[in-house]
Amino acid sequence: MSKVVKKEYLEEAAAGYNLRTAREEARRCLVCHDAPCSEACPAGTDPARFIRSLRFNNVKGAAETIRKNNPLGGSCAKVCPYDQLCQEACSRCGIDKPIEIGRLQSFLVEQEKAFGMKNVEAPEEKKAGKAACIGAGPASLAAASVLARAGYEVTVYDAQQKAGGMLTYGIVPARLPQETVDYDIQLIKDLGVKFELGKKVESAEALKAAGYDTVFVGAGLWGTKKVDLPGADAKGVRYALDYLKEARESGGKSEIGNKVIVIGGGDVAMDCAATAKLAGAEKVMIYYRRTIEEAPAEMAEIKYVQSMGVTITTEFAPAAILEKDGKVDFVQFKGRDGQSEAKVKADTVVFAIGQSAEAVGGMDAEGVFVGGDIANGGKTVVDAVAEGKEAAAAMIDYLEKKAGVK
Ligand code: SF4
Repeated sequence: MSKVVKKEYLEEAAAGYNLRTAREEARRCLVCHDAPCSEACPAGTDPARFIRSLRFNNVKGAAETIRKNNPLGGSCAKVCPYDQLCQEACSRCGIDKPIEIGRLQSFLVEQEKAFGMKNVEAPEEKKAGKAACIGAGPASLAAASVLARAGYEVTVYDAQQKAGGMLTYGIVPARLPQETVDYDIQLIKDLGVKFELGKKVESAEALKAAGYDTVFVGAGLWGTKKVDLPGADAKGVRYALDYLKEARESGGKSEIGNKVIVIGGGDVAMDCAATAKLAGAEKVMIYYRRTIEEAPAEMAEIKYVQSMGVTITTEFAPAAILEKDGKVDFVQFKGRDGQSEAKVKADTVVFAIGQSAEAVGGMDAEGVFVGGDIANGGKTVVDAVAEGKEAAAAMIDYLEKKAGVK
């Protein structure tokens, strides 16, 4: 390979696939009869089918398979843990390496946008029955898409000013660009789904009383688990979601200080560390109480923050925050072995140790369905999509019975 060709190839790889390289990758697919990749997708995105279409140069058909099966196909292409799902299940793992399903999905969704493909539609004639979704995160968005395509009038309510839930406020844009989220949402709006943003709904029953026949509660986990440590009230102690939301709303410029400690080992902790680094913090250090193998964060995210210069110290948990003039000064850590100790200077401590659900009333009322993080305690985006689709199917069944169709 000449140097020129090699350089072009590397640039192509960094930039994502083009039609030629995407088809080359699709041609490595074994077209498995049992398609373990498709079996492994919680949301039923059906990689085997879209890869087969791409092999036959049917880009439109491939993009259509993704969008029809997964209304958040663009966002999932960016944040799905492929190496634990479809790519881990891929039959080619036993030969050389799995098909790059995530990158192929990204390429196809970009083609869908670039060519303005309309891959999903809602019927013009509406069916009897109105549905509402509480929360505009992935579970609700998926449910709204399925309901609208089945012909129902759907309204999505969210307390935030922008739709997307965790996709918009809880994931760093370097991992999930806002335009990707916005495009997924635009396609749902194009189906006629209405959005009522900046409106917090306290109870599903209130929406039923307002005339909705069925309600989906996909409100997500927006409550913060407060830490109970000496010094936890000091200025400079932050909580992950508040910090990520503020950073997103300020265009990444929210004040964070120079020495930042992030506590946690999940993707949200990695996102906080990356956001702090991108905001200009000189030193960003992650501390996690278990080993790196036990950390729930994806390996790609761990490598990403490490490539930015973020250090990760494992098997150390915070014991106290030491203040000076009411502000964070040091964090005292204790080792998992029960003997080791460390005292680390910091301006800010961000706790990324999990979220809790905020109460929504009437979740067990008739015609009310619940899914996503609020029901499963916080899983992946693709799990939320799967639960939203499942809830929508149950809501359609409920509406049909109510209308006497079934
Ligand atoms: S498991 Fe891998 S090789 Fe088999 S159909 Fe899916 S992508 Fe192709």
